[in-house]
Formats: sequence, structure tokens, C-alpha cells
Amino acid sequence: MKLAKLNGKPEIFYSIQGEGKSIGKPAIFVRLSLCNLHCVWCDTDYTWNWKSTPFPHVNDNQQGYEKYIKKDWIVEVSVAEIISELANYPCKRIILTGGEPLMQQKELIPLAIALKKSGYMIEVETNGTIVPLQELDQHIDQYNVSPKLENSNNSKRLREKAKAYTYFNANKRANFKFVIDKQEDLEEIESLIGTFKIAADKIYLMPQGTTGKQLMAKQQWLIEICKTMGYNYTDRLHILIYGDKRGV
Ligand code: SF4
Repeated sequence: MKLAKLNGKPEIFYSIQGEGKSIGKPAIFVRLSLCNLHCVWCDTDYTWNWKSTPFPHVNDNQQGYEKYIKKDWIVEVSVAEIISELANYPCKRIILTGGEPLMQQKELIPLAIALKKSGYMIEVETNGTIVPLQELDQHIDQYNVSPKLENSNNSKRLREKAKAYTYFNANKRANFKFVIDKQEDLEEIESLIGTFKIAADKIYLMPQGTTGKQLMAKQQWLIEICKTMGYNYTDRLHILIYGDKRGV
């Protein structure tokens, strides 16, 4: 399985879930590399923004920012190595994140089986474009689906997969988290919610931002919308606590 590499090691770290339905719960994050999208504001672009890719990123013009050399940012690990690393932490909640974890869903099946045997609860964070295989799905306790909007700079053809949205909408273990930057984003998600008839209580609105100041500027109006529409509001707790850092 291909994991993202951080400080020369597979990116596995113990923290708290900072967003969505399980916000505030202690959890061990396992970050898989590779993604099938290329969001312009992605904060884990070291999982996909390789030197050969043509995709723009908000950091492109920042001094010192360079696209990543793929072989330097991926580490191949076995199920046994992951299970052994997880045993170092006093926690039974695993969050499989990325990148897009479902790009490696065949490889995830033996990991999910081993995790369940050891009593772990498994959350999967996904961009909602790939339908999980049944052999994997049966072991997953929660899907945190984060559909990408036009502000991500992915084409509609790439980011909006009706089959996958329909699947997650029908799955009782899935919730939808939308990252909101501007008013136009809300209009777009209202259209998606209408098309796929997503129930209000499955929906989480989260402000876009990588600083506390940016998040707070959007809190008030998003909370009012949640109150009106019956959606859930979620902050980005890890940004408020740790800032925009990796591996926390
Ligand atoms: S789907 Fe997630 S990991 Fe992939 S580019 Fe977008 S934000 Fe980054």
C-alpha cells in the first residue's frame, strides 16, 4: 500500500479528528498517497502534485514552493507494518485519509479485515468519486464524504460522479462535508443536494481556510445557514489548535 511520506516515514499520526461528524474524537490517521483529483487549494498536495503534472495550485507562486518528486513522497508499507505501528497508540479509532484512499481500495481490504479483528473502528475520508467495493465496505464504520465544488478547479466531469454520490447517499454510514468559501458555493451545493436528494442531517458545512482568522470570518454566516436549513456546522479544529501543519 502506498502511504504518504512525512519526515522520511509513513504518515501515521495520533491526533484528534478535526472536522465533521467525529470532531474532537482522538484518532489515529493513516494518510494514503495518490489522488484522482487536483484541488487548487489542496492542503495535502504532496500526495498527488508531482513534478510532471500540469495542475495549478495556490502555492505555485509562493517562494520556495515546488511540485513534488513522486518517489520521494510515497512509501510502500505492508498491512503488518501498519498494524504494528498502530499498536504504539492508545486509541482504537482509525481514519484512513489521503489523497484519495479509495484509489487503493483493493489493498485496503486486508488492512480493514486486520483492523476489525483487532477491534478498531474505521473511518474513511473520501472525495466521493469512487464507489467502495463490497469487500471493503462491509468493514467500514463511517464514510466522511467531501464532494468537491467548482472552487476546487476540477472539471465537473471529474469531480461529480452520480453513481458514487447516489451510493454514499443511500449508505447510512456516510455523511457529506462541504467546504464553503463563498456564497456561490452554497448555491452549487443546494443544486447537488436537490439533484441527489441528500438528507439535511447528513450534511456538514465547513468554512474553507487554513488560519483561524480565515475560518472565523466565515463562521457566522455558515452557522446561520445551518440553522435555517437543518445542516450541521463543522469547524476545522486541528487548524484552530495546531495551525496548518502536517502530521498533527
Ligand atoms: S480530493 Fe482531497 S486530496 Fe485530492 S486534491 Fe482534492 S483536497 Fe487534495
